[in-house]
Amino acid sequence: MTDPIIVWLRHDLRLRDNPALYHAAYNKTPIIPVFIYDPEAMDRDYGGAQKWWLHHALHALRKDFKDHGVDLVVRQGDSLEILNTLISETNAKGVYWNRSYEAWSIDRDAHIKEVLKDRDLDVQSFKANVLFEPWTVKNGSGDPYRVFTPFWKACRAQEEAIEDELPVPNSMVNGAPSSLNIGDISDFDFLPDIRWDKKMADHWDISENGAWERMHTFFKDALGGYKDDRNIPSRDTTSRLSPYLRWGIISPRSIWHATHDYCSNHDVPQKDKDHFLSEVGWREFSFHLLYYNPNMKDDPLQDKFKNFPWDQDSGVLKRWQKGQTGYPMIDAGMRQLWQTGWMHNRIRMIVGSLLVKHLLHSWIEGEQWFWDCLVDACPANNTAGWQWIGGCGADAAPYFRIFNPITQGDKFDAYDYVRQYVPEIAHIEDKYLFEPWESPNPPANYPAPIIDHKEGREKALAAFETTKEK
Ligand SMILES: Cc1cc2nc3c(=O)[nH]c(=O)nc-3n(C[C@H](O)[C@H](O)[C@H](O)COP(=O)(O)OP(=O)(O)OC[C@H]3O[C@@H](n4cnc5c(N)ncnc54)[C@H](O)[C@@H]3O)c2cc1C
Repeated sequence: MTDPIIVWLRHDLRLRDNPALYHAAYNKTPIIPVFIYDPEAMDRDYGGAQKWWLHHALHALRKDFKDHGVDLVVRQGDSLEILNTLISETNAKGVYWNRSYEAWSIDRDAHIKEVLKDRDLDVQSFKANVLFEPWTVKNGSGDPYRVFTPFWKACRAQEEAIEDELPVPNSMVNGAPSSLNIGDISDFDFLPDIRWDKKMADHWDISENGAWERMHTFFKDALGGYKDDRNIPSRDTTSRLSPYLRWGIISPRSIWHATHDYCSNHDVPQKDKDHFLSEVGWREFSFHLLYYNPNMKDDPLQDKFKNFPWDQDSGVLKRWQKGQTGYPMIDAGMRQLWQTGWMHNRIRMIVGSLLVKHLLHSWIEGEQWFWDCLVDACPANNTAGWQWIGGCGADAAPYFRIFNPITQGDKFDAYDYVRQYVPEIAHIEDKYLFEPWESPNPPANYPAPIIDHKEGREKALAAFETTKEK
């Protein structure tokens, strides 16, 4: 038998359109797919919800490989040491992987590539997890972009360069010798001790098949009308593909081509198609920003925010985290996050605005909470999203844009949404639903607002005004 190639899987937990897997398995070369949990190498460990998702995603992937007669190997520890050991154990002749764009990963991968190449192994890395690698999109002066619209225009101008999707390799050959211990996914200990995750499972089918089904359901039910309806949190009008994209269970390239294919065979308004693709474009933009600003999770992209006088009040933070602010829109969002591991984009903006503006808590505290609770917590999208909310990011919300946590409820028809997640006020009539303290019978078991909206808004404007002069 030909010597095998190791396919080092990271955020690309899929069989379809997986370049490292496809090229390794080409011509029936035996393959050994391996996932390595290497927390020491990471700039921070996965959050709780991500670990939960990863546990299930790895099980599903192991099953999918098994259906093709291939073993998925899992290991924990130093990536290079583990790869070296696997190479010795299996006589592998090479290692292939798909590229990541976080600084710690780029440095680690470059080192590993160098060491393995010195051993005369066949080492190759591929583009798989973005449509456009960050360094391939530059403005007229050759600099990276800091504003989304021209960035996406430049991307679309080169969209012909988006490669075709790769199929699942046919007839994969298992390269793992029968003596090899394939490892136990449960040893990662990714499931929480206190089982807060039980309800979350009802909301997701964590598998490659689940991602494709989700996408096709979205195309059928919600792509037409997406541009307007995507802002209505009580309706299932967005794709909910974010956690699948986060873990590479579906590729952006597959989404890109599938969207075009669907629209060429169905009557979908151009504006809806373009808007959906532009949201996928925001993800591209976040990776572009992350690549050029590797410390984006800690440092504001605008220097003038470096010494911003954020408040620190653990009681306030806790009320926001637990969905006990007394603002139904905010509390519904924070509880949706807790119960499902996901939150609607419009609500992410509103809860973020309350934390950063009304409550003057740092966007970093919000980013960290989301990092722990979101199943789609993404090193690029989450940090870019929070910097946008904080007003300190590239192309950020201007400091005077402060979402009104009361009027946004009616504006985005969040009546059912609030009643679903804040049942203690479900009986309140529509007129008072987003400000229950005004109701003639405010519920005793629901808190008063954490801050008066007007007072919070004025405080925020005064504090953020100071960033204007700098
Ligand atoms: C404070 C804040 C934090 C966020 N944190 C994350 C995060 O950790 N992970 C994450 O994937 N997204 C994050 N987002 C972006 C956005 O909220 C989610 O991508 C979106 O809600 C996911 O739902 P969906 O898959 O149904 O999106 P759809 O509307 O169906 O969009 C399709 C895809 O486009 C991408 N996308 C959509 N909106 C954005 C956006 N504003 N920025 C970047 N990419 C986008 C996502 O990959 C999404 O799956 C954050 C936004 C904010 C304001």
